[in-house]
Amino acid sequence: MENSVFSSRKLDDNTWIIFGEGCTSYLVVGNKMGLMVDSGFATENIQKYAQTLTDKPVNHVINTHGHFDHTGGNGWFQHAYMSAKALEIAKIPYPSLDPSKYRTDYVVTVVGDGDVIDLGGRRLEVLEIPAHAPSSIALLDRSEKILFSGDEVADLVVLVWMQDEPQPYVEQHALNMEKLLRQRDGFERICWGHAVGFLEGDLVKRYLEHDELIMAGKETEPWVPLPGGPADFFMPQPEFKRKSGYLDTQLVFDLRYIKF
Ligand SMILES: [Zn+2]
Repeated sequence: MENSVFSSRKLDDNTWIIFGEGCTSYLVVGNKMGLMVDSGFATENIQKYAQTLTDKPVNHVINTHGHFDHTGGNGWFQHAYMSAKALEIAKIPYPSLDPSKYRTDYVVTVVGDGDVIDLGGRRLEVLEIPAHAPSSIALLDRSEKILFSGDEVADLVVLVWMQDEPQPYVEQHALNMEKLLRQRDGFERICWGHAVGFLEGDLVKRYLEHDELIMAGKETEPWVPLPGGPADFFMPQPEFKRKSGYLDTQLVFDLRYIKF
């Protein structure tokens, strides 16, 4: 597709990463059908783009969480899967976006812990891991050993968000990492929501260690929001926000929300 806002890279036989606007999306294809993991917020038709990559029908999308940079393109699909919490915000464009450019009349099926999306010979298991967003789910693909982690296991995990009150706890993120580690034999690679390629599975362990260090009172730095970022990502009450680095993990969190 010439002049498309989208580009893609094949990660392995039946998995593509798609770069557009908002987030990175993944096309996951089984014997029967393809599934889009997150849809970004480009106003160009991402379903049509994904369909150029495979002969299998791609009529479904699943959202790792409800933030609009992951759900804005849902309207190009017949059907969206998401958590109940995601449904509360998934159809609300960020303030800087033009709402008339987004279709929100798509059909939603709510999914939660233990649900499975069967693509034919390839199954994605849903694991609820709410921290970056109360609506977050991970998708475990045991056949290809991939964990789709949304923004919960990432280069930088942001545990503060203007849309979500109350703010998430670092301790909740730690519980989520423990939950993922109980499935550690099911994945070797991680695909997250703003990626350029795979992260390695052991990152989950290092995030748990990092969470535990923060809970034990590790030194942290003030969080300085990136200059020139979109107004949608403005963080309220910056005096309470902190940033912390440990090995190849980075966390942003609110000082008042460390332990339950
Ligand atoms: Zn997000």
